[in-house]
Amino acid sequence: MRIDILTIFPQMFSGPFSHSIVKRAMDKGLAEIHLHDIRDYATDKHRRVDDYPFGGGAGMVMLIEPIERCIDALRAERQYDEVIYMSPDGLLLDQPFANTISTKKNLIILCGHYKGVDERIREHLITMEISVGNYVLSGGELPAAMLCDAVIRLIPGVLGDETSALSDSFQDNLLSPPVYTRPADYKGWKVPDILLSGHDRKIAEWRHEQAVERTKKRRPELL
Ligand code: SAH
Repeated sequence: MRIDILTIFPQMFSGPFSHSIVKRAMDKGLAEIHLHDIRDYATDKHRRVDDYPFGGGAGMVMLIEPIERCIDALRAERQYDEVIYMSPDGLLLDQPFANTISTKKNLIILCGHYKGVDERIREHLITMEISVGNYVLSGGELPAAMLCDAVIRLIPGVLGDETSALSDSFQDNLLSPPVYTRPADYKGWKVPDILLSGHDRKIAEWRHEQAVERTKKRRPELL
């Protein structure tokens, strides 16, 4: 999978993409992430990427032209499955959506800033708008990093244990059951006996029951 991210703060991604599973996926050649500084596509000498809103009011609005030039340059090189704009009024990012997106080949992700991007970008250049939750962040960079992480970990071969993504919360509409590791008894805080029994089928049953129980209690709407 190839992901092209359009941003005015490419440095913001150096943390999330240089560690852990996303980094491993890139090292293995299973995911490629390319960062594009929208400022490089600005046309004036001040490398302007935003301007005052028509109609007045607070905050700046991101200009159409630099973003369109960047998207056009990418589209001239290859076909993209989706051009995604991270936006608080978009579709809520969830596991089924991450699963669907993880099968795509080429994606563009646009990160907004300030008051957001000129609406005409959304009308004419964007194919999909995604929100990471009902709250407003300062920019689309953290949301884009979240989307990339959620999607990249699902690409076959990325996770060490192939089955591990399938047993995560929200796959099958169930939350994950509780997990434990050594020691079996920590100051009297004990691990459930069943997990020490070595009885695989019973352990699987117990885990399923726990997952159902937890989902009923915490997120009944998923059931
Ligand atoms: N004025 C806009 C918010 C702009 S926030 C509004 O009220 O809807 C600036 C940028 O941050 C947005 O363009 C978007 O790219 C990003 N952003 C902020 N919150 C987000 C969220 N919950 N999900 C996805 N992107 C978000």
